[in-house]
Amino acid sequence: MLVPANRIVLTTHHNPDGDAIGSMLGLWHILEQVGIHSIAVAPNSFPDFLSWMPGSDTILRFSSSRQKVREVLAGADIIVCLDYNGFSRTEDMESLFSASSAKKILIDHHPQPENTFDLSISVVEVSSTSELVFELATEIFGLKTLNPDAATCLYAGIMTDTGSFSYACSRGRTLEIAGMLVDSGAVVERIQSLVYNNFSADRMKLLGYCLCEKMKVFQEYHAACIWLTREELKRFNHQMGDTEGFVNYPLSIKGIIFSVIFVENDSYVKVSLRSRGSFSVNEFARKYYNGGGHLNAAGGKSFQPIEATLTGFEQLLHQHSHELIAAAGE
Ligand code: 5GP
Ligand code: MN
Repeated sequence: MLVPANRIVLTTHHNPDGDAIGSMLGLWHILEQVGIHSIAVAPNSFPDFLSWMPGSDTILRFSSSRQKVREVLAGADIIVCLDYNGFSRTEDMESLFSASSAKKILIDHHPQPENTFDLSISVVEVSSTSELVFELATEIFGLKTLNPDAATCLYAGIMTDTGSFSYACSRGRTLEIAGMLVDSGAVVERIQSLVYNNFSADRMKLLGYCLCEKMKVFQEYHAACIWLTREELKRFNHQMGDTEGFVNYPLSIKGIIFSVIFVENDSYVKVSLRSRGSFSVNEFARKYYNGGGHLNAAGGKSFQPIEATLTGFEQLLHQHSHELIAAAGE
């Protein structure tokens, strides 16, 4: 039970996405409403299309406030872990968790959570962590604590994790909750616009370049991939978050059920994977890219050069061809 006297810290994963920031700030607003002060912490920065969320300026970022975050976690009684299932997902912050004697509470929807938490509220069936925060917070504190700011953040989290209610959204309850959030002050058109109509011209050109020049379709394997080198990112004045969502485009090609984007950075190749149907990108990411995620959306890293990563990927497609063909035929 959350007791006001406790020092509560809310945390989320590295490179936070809409659900990470939305669930953390949604909970932060609800706690504020009931007089419980908490501190929100993210491992690093997040893109402009998430920075508009009310309360986002209060989030402490470990990448730029290392000492402060160290102190906050060390002094916490309760650390809430939102939208991730293992401390390694916080990257450089990982060691701060073991150094803190706080009770660690997991609130998450990823499969296979690690058993390092003192309390695990892990529900795979929900669309998003934001949906789970809604269920928990309204159960504990009541619907009235959901002010427009909380509703806006939670709605943004559900919207981004479901691609505007187009996947991970098979339960009617998700849409019911979205409806309650709208009734509590979330403005659909505004949120949709702030997230999806907020890109730079360079980002749109990079997308065009990817689809035209850098997408390889393996029709026989029902798969496709896109890859970008550091030089190409530089050429298009790449800003954090610019490639977010690119991986979804190949899935709209007829017959394609598996899509991957490889993005080179200074230390490794970031891999994002998406699928439709029963082909598990969570398993694929765990097995080959030191990562994980959900059945149909996962991520990881390759520590090989990008060329070797791509050659390896083509070999893996061949290796998994039966599975891919079977999944595409479902
Ligand atoms: P994205 O491809 O958008 O980065 O991530 C898709 C999903 O995979 C998200 O649910 C995210 O939490 C998860 N994910 C992304 N990168 C990693 C990673 O490196 N490790 C693990 N375990 N999960 C990841
Ligand atoms: Mn999520």
